[in-house]
Amino acid sequence: MRAITIAVALCAACTHAPPPRGGPKPLAIVGATVVFPERDTGTTLGDATVVIAGDRITAVGPRASTPVPDGAAVLDGKGRWLIPGMVDGHVHFFQSGNLYTRPDAADFTALVPYAQEVARNKARLPATFAVWLASGVTSVIDVGGPFWNFAARDAAMASESAPRVETTGPLISMVARPQLDLGDPPIVKVESAEAARALVARELPHHPDFIKVWFIHREGEDLAAQEAIVAATAEAAHAAHVRLAVHATELETAKAAVRAGADYLVHNVFNEPIDDELVQTILAHHVLVCPTLFVTTGYPLALSNQWQATPDEQRLADPQILATMHDLDHIPTDKLPPRLARFVAEKQTVPPPTVAMQNLAKLEAAGVTIVMGTDAGNIGTLHGPSVFREMALMRDAGLTPLQVLRSATTNGAKAMGRDDLGAIAPGKLADLVLLDADPLADVANLSHAVRVVKGGAIYDPKALIDRIR
Ligand SMILES: [Zn+2]
Repeated sequence: MRAITIAVALCAACTHAPPPRGGPKPLAIVGATVVFPERDTGTTLGDATVVIAGDRITAVGPRASTPVPDGAAVLDGKGRWLIPGMVDGHVHFFQSGNLYTRPDAADFTALVPYAQEVARNKARLPATFAVWLASGVTSVIDVGGPFWNFAARDAAMASESAPRVETTGPLISMVARPQLDLGDPPIVKVESAEAARALVARELPHHPDFIKVWFIHREGEDLAAQEAIVAATAEAAHAAHVRLAVHATELETAKAAVRAGADYLVHNVFNEPIDDELVQTILAHHVLVCPTLFVTTGYPLALSNQWQATPDEQRLADPQILATMHDLDHIPTDKLPPRLARFVAEKQTVPPPTVAMQNLAKLEAAGVTIVMGTDAGNIGTLHGPSVFREMALMRDAGLTPLQVLRSATTNGAKAMGRDDLGAIAPGKLADLVLLDADPLADVANLSHAVRVVKGGAIYDPKALIDRIR
């Protein structure tokens, strides 16, 4: 028999909803410090009990006044912290993070043909899903790839151990990337508003969660004409109630993207300091911003053979990918395109993305909704544990641990367009991470997951990784 939870009106942290009928054995996480990243004050509740029935949270309150239902499984939370499952707001399943995954940027196809790389990435999806969950990331947004992205979303939904996945199809692009075209290209060049609308129309039957524009502007090109293409894309997406995500990494393209109707800027501005005009239009249009700080250093680190796995990556990344990250140790220089050979020979210092970090601080201070995201899958940015590199850079940019955690949970849920994710409260989905260190003391503690819960199911991170070895 399931005990009935009673609302305790006197305690602000105690909120209870009736448990759903049926479902498997309830779960209670007992004694943990619950973190509420959506709050500005009262952000923790020590010695708490969180009750889960089926895939939802049914009660959150002090242990002393929150009963554990009869027959519930109990997870000991003593000396631990409980946060909402994290969201990575920017990933790509068609890319692996290794050297062979973007032949348009770095051509290693003489060593590993691109078709082989993509086939591997498709076949390895279950492992990629597992590394996300093991990293405490219970939801990801794939912001662009081939049409088989939609099948990847279906595969995640059908999988026993995968994050929740939102996705879009091919990037509606200002430039062509023939190197990536195996018949189902991830990037499709459009030269007119009509062509953009036609590509949106091809994607809509697959129910994309976003439409994505790759807004690449090169000197001498007609920015107004490009903005008109973005505006037409926005109009077509919005008419179907689908939001528009835009890659725009320069101040001028970011402004144009927001004017044209972008809902989600999937990168920060990297080329120059942002100005008040951009900040004000972002706020006025309620645009979400995903800074993706690490990805721009991931490329040069990996391509100059200076990339080193962090301890988190050694523990949580796909072992198959880790095993290839230093292939440049064995590739003779004369087998490399000259540009890459120079990269390896010179081993230039790779600085942090200072301008983008300063821009992030400015956006955060102005009250812009910041969404943590890695751009995982790009060279040097591995699926899963790259979130810890990203959040360390956000901290270095000046964000507080609470702001970083909020970007990865509360705001991640906003990017997902979901009000049932991103918080620990009755009625929310039971996507949680149990940590053995305080995430509000140091964002590095966010990698200390001892258990990950998704939809009420409990996962041991180590067991998830052991299974894919
Ligand atoms: Zn991306």
